[in-house]
Amino acid sequence: MNAPLQGHTVSKPIAAAQALLSVDNVSLEYRTPQRVVRATHQVSFEVDPADRFVLLGPSGCGKSTLLKAAAGFIQPVEGEIRLQGQRVDAPGPDRIVVFQEFDQLPPWKTVKQNVMFPLLASKTLKRKEAEARALHYLQKVGLAAFADAYPHTLSGGMKARVAIARALAMQPKILLMDEPFAALDALTRRKMQEELLLLWEEVRFTLLFVTHSIEEALVVGNRILLLSPHPGRVRAEVHSHQYDLHSLGGVAFQESARRIHRLLFDEGQSAQTEHELGFADIRIAY
Ligand code: ADP
Ligand code: MG
Repeated sequence: MNAPLQGHTVSKPIAAAQALLSVDNVSLEYRTPQRVVRATHQVSFEVDPADRFVLLGPSGCGKSTLLKAAAGFIQPVEGEIRLQGQRVDAPGPDRIVVFQEFDQLPPWKTVKQNVMFPLLASKTLKRKEAEARALHYLQKVGLAAFADAYPHTLSGGMKARVAIARALAMQPKILLMDEPFAALDALTRRKMQEELLLLWEEVRFTLLFVTHSIEEALVVGNRILLLSPHPGRVRAEVHSHQYDLHSLGGVAFQESARRIHRLLFDEGQSAQTEHELGFADIRIAY
């Protein structure tokens, strides 16, 4: 029954090459003395090199928990997460997380010192090389002129760019971003999405990006994993590489956004489509 949804095409089969990040049947739980909260249930997906892979779902569906598990902060109660075939069982410099709260930038360090800090703390580079690397990535995010400024003198968007530069300077195998622009005003958020895409064009990093915004998912991602409400299960995976900020408001973009909305929230219909399409094993191209 693997027929494409009308107006859609089934994309190419999964490439035989090894995925960069494999999330295989992963269930994640929080245990408190009173009860066990299941955050995700048997979630599987694969992130390929240079993917901009988005986890999309309503608040509480386990997106942040999945990201923390990929970072190695939480261990699955079922299933396995692998980075280039190696089981993820602890945090490491090959997976760097950018969170929503940019005020985590230590205020007593300059912008440059903030970007250098993880490089020095992890002993990745010596001071001189760390400084050169920091300046390189600050230039990439357009903040070279602010290298010696302190975080409190920066706007929210600029702090976001420092956090991205700090993460990219570590040259992780995969960059993990948890709703990184959610605290910004709408215009700055748009601008940051655009800058992230430009940066990706230039650096071609691999990104795992969490959001609850359908629009942001379509703009930022080339692939989107749709998760059901709590506990998060995979509803579908869609391709969205054809969209960027210029697509906003376009007919095809809006139609995709509506379809994703239905898949996420219309229980009856998505249960039926899931059954018809076997979403567990196909990918859909919009
Ligand atoms: P999302 O990021 O999609 O909004 P989360 O991953 O933060 O969702 O949370 C998934 C579920 O796990 C929610 O029901 C949430 O209440 C629960 N949860 C998150 N963190 C904890 C925690 N530290 N202890 C217990 N339950 C938690
Ligand atoms: Mg979250």
